[in-house]
Amino acid sequence: MIDTLRLTAEEALGLLERREVSARELWDAYRAAIDERDGELHCFLSLVDEPAGEGVPIALKDVIGTKGIETTAGSKILKGYVPLYDSTVARRCKEAGLVTLGKTNTDEFAMGSSTENSAFGPSRNPWDPTRVPGGSGGGSAAAVAGGLAPWALGSDTGGSIKQPAALCGIVGLRPTYGTVSRYGIVAFASSLDQVGPTTKTVRDCALLYRTIAGRDPSDSTTADVPEVELPEREDLRGVRIGVPKQMVEAEGIESGVKDAFERTIQLARELGAEVGECELPLSVEYGLPCYYLVAPAEASSNLARYDGVRYGLRAPEDAYHAMVMRTRDEGFGDEPKRRIMLGTYALSAGYFEAYYGQAQKVRTVIRREHAEAFERFDVLASPTSPTVAFELGAKTQDPLAMYANDLLTIPSCMAGLPGLNVPCGLSEGLPVGLQLIGPQFAENALFAAGHALERALGFDRVPERLR
Ligand code: GLN
Repeated sequence: MIDTLRLTAEEALGLLERREVSARELWDAYRAAIDERDGELHCFLSLVDEPAGEGVPIALKDVIGTKGIETTAGSKILKGYVPLYDSTVARRCKEAGLVTLGKTNTDEFAMGSSTENSAFGPSRNPWDPTRVPGGSGGGSAAAVAGGLAPWALGSDTGGSIKQPAALCGIVGLRPTYGTVSRYGIVAFASSLDQVGPTTKTVRDCALLYRTIAGRDPSDSTTADVPEVELPEREDLRGVRIGVPKQMVEAEGIESGVKDAFERTIQLARELGAEVGECELPLSVEYGLPCYYLVAPAEASSNLARYDGVRYGLRAPEDAYHAMVMRTRDEGFGDEPKRRIMLGTYALSAGYFEAYYGQAQKVRTVIRREHAEAFERFDVLASPTSPTVAFELGAKTQDPLAMYANDLLTIPSCMAGLPGLNVPCGLSEGLPVGLQLIGPQFAENALFAAGHALERALGFDRVPERLR
């Protein structure tokens, strides 16, 4: 019997290599888990009927373009859009022998922190189905945590890999900007979007990152990436960990989250790390407002392409302008509309310098603050999310409360830096995530620190109600 709740992708690869299970048996085990639990969790927007290969299965967030498989980005406006080509990450997964199980749920165009903005209904948290799995990559995170996929890919603009991983008690990496190709990904905010792994363990995360990272001629923002090392070490001797004062003292961090974080920092000391305090005052104060100018500005431009001509939905109107207007009115949900309006405003003549221009300057300040912190520390540590998973509906009427979820994940995204979520304990029976931030291209340092902590923490990642 394959226990999909416990089996790691690395173990699955081993079983296949040693021919202890067949690829078909693996596929069937995950399909059985999907049949059993996806009705409740709603992780998948579409499923693939037959495995297109002989390797380990994988789930892909529905912003990842897949040849021949509908790709909707959680939006009605892309309903029925079947890409004619694979995104580079989908192609690399195929070339590595991975077989796509299906496409996972996401907030519409990855805009959100709970998957409740999906046009196709929310996903639910495997730890407690009355609660959200986080977002926007809640479908991928819930699929991995709920044993519906051994691992999955997500995308992260301001926290959409890290925060759902935190809320679902699994590992998630937002890679350094420019390490993973964006070719064939549904664009949200192009200066921030990065694809990355959502996995059960840090080693799985390193394996999947190794598969997808690297320069891609089809995405000129990609760079050569240092060779990925699978983490082995179980201590943290010689590792300097900085704890940004403003991140642990920020308003709205639940006391249970703080406690789990502090216990983890104590453990890091016991493993030999040198822990010190550092400062990110402007990043924490201005990170969110800066992001909510830059990201909507880029989104308003990226989403201009959905005009009813090239992709998905087309409203039946004879005149061109009437068709475009109705398609966009009926095709976009409230959140993309809100962002398009915010973004167009920030970019409009007369306001551009005051909003978008100013935000770009603040972004440079955020980058500098992080660079200064990394003069003294190898990695920075904070909670990933200020809260544990919240109830469905709790924040849907209050966009600002929803945005506040990203307080701790956004600053490093604005600085283009990699961030890893490692589950670090429970609060009220729900997972708490530790966020480790590194300098550019320091994924190996994050994997090493994350792996040592993961080993020492011994967090049981199988949701209590499914054990
Ligand atoms: N929650 C943030 C937003 O709504 C980040 C989403 C993301 O990273 N895609 O924009």
